[in-house]
Amino acid sequence: MPTKPKTQKIQPVQRPKGMHDILPHEQPIWEKIKKNARDIAEFYNFSPIEIPLLERMELFERSVGEGTDVIEKQMFTIVAKGNEKLALRPEATAGIARAFIENGMSQLGSPLKLYLEGPMFRYEQPQAGRYREFHQLNFEILSNESDPIYDAQLMLVFTRLLESLKIKNITIKVNSIGCKNCRPGYRRKLQTYYKQKKSQLCKDCLRRLETNPLRLLDCKEEQCAPLKADAPIIVDELCTSCRNHFKSVLDYLEELKLPYALDHRLVRGLDYYSRTVFEIVVEGYGQALGGGGRYDYLVELLGGKNVPAVGFAAGMERIIDVIRLQEINLGLREKPKIFLIYIGDLAKKRSLLLIEEMRRNHIDVAESLGKESLNAQLRVADKLGSPLALIFGQKEAFEESIIIRDLKTGAQETIPLAKLAESVKKKLKEVDA
Ligand code: AMP
Repeated sequence: MPTKPKTQKIQPVQRPKGMHDILPHEQPIWEKIKKNARDIAEFYNFSPIEIPLLERMELFERSVGEGTDVIEKQMFTIVAKGNEKLALRPEATAGIARAFIENGMSQLGSPLKLYLEGPMFRYEQPQAGRYREFHQLNFEILSNESDPIYDAQLMLVFTRLLESLKIKNITIKVNSIGCKNCRPGYRRKLQTYYKQKKSQLCKDCLRRLETNPLRLLDCKEEQCAPLKADAPIIVDELCTSCRNHFKSVLDYLEELKLPYALDHRLVRGLDYYSRTVFEIVVEGYGQALGGGGRYDYLVELLGGKNVPAVGFAAGMERIIDVIRLQEINLGLREKPKIFLIYIGDLAKKRSLLLIEEMRRNHIDVAESLGKESLNAQLRVADKLGSPLALIFGQKEAFEESIIIRDLKTGAQETIPLAKLAESVKKKLKEVDA
């Protein structure tokens, strides 16, 4: 007898490290956040924009900046056919600035307010609140003037978004990192300070000391973090124009009564920021929910006109973490649906048309038409928590009628099919009351 070939166990393919599926039961919270963000965007006149997930690598090298972690360590890069070097977007601002220039969007008037939601990709070591694919909500304002009122308006928008999700204990950490004129002097002071501490710096900071000294203030390494305490602070070095700008931003924040705190060590990781930088944090949660700032030179740096701008990005995964941490009830439970049950072939055949009739009458209906037995269908209805069932049997199908059953009390009545929508709506009102 021929021996049976050994069946090889097929290994399931796994998702890439640091990336997640967002399953159906998780969708309501994502939808809620997106809906609130879209409502807020609409109210404050931010128009939606979408840009490719892939951009030319040089876009990020030129904007985010060499010497930043995002460029040096976190880029997902692809070499496509024809040796085209592409990168999965690690953030959206550079792509938005690129699109602004490429599509001549300065014609659209000033200020131009843009809103983008979607996935970003960074090759990071995955941990809580830090993934390789994550989702951001981006709000950007490009205008002809570097007006501090927009910095404040963005912080307001970000705060309102979090408040709309009932998030409590918010603090906006804010700082100014100066402009082309005053930042170089500060950079030198910082370099001088840290050069004296060289022996205490981590490997990355030793490199940053030459390439991007401001980032030294951002280092989370145990050996470097304490050195921040005595480092020179930038507000002492700001030029008059940056000082006035920062003062106005703070005046607006006061006027708006927003919960802000000065943080002289806040620099943010990306190179293109100028003047105002900010992050929003929440008590008891270790990471920023989002951050942003002014990027007055970015459009020019990428080959466009001088168009000052300011923006922020909020991280959706972290917002969800905080909603869970603060045990916030957003009332996300889906409304239970009417459940349609059939018995017999004739009724089954007509079921899809019955559902169509419900659709025409804006009545939500659930079913498990693939199951034959009444009990099996009732079990699904029970699992869904449906308040009412419509039972369509052989007899009813012949008589052009249907049974409506209250699944809680078991009370039921037969109604003519001609009055289906009207009767269901009436019954729904009764069970809702
Ligand atoms: P950044 O551009 O680094 O300032 O990021 C802005 C916001 O995006 C952060 O405050 C986070 O909420 C979110 N974010 C950035 N990187 C990640 C990541 N790797 N995983 C999850 N969220 C992230």
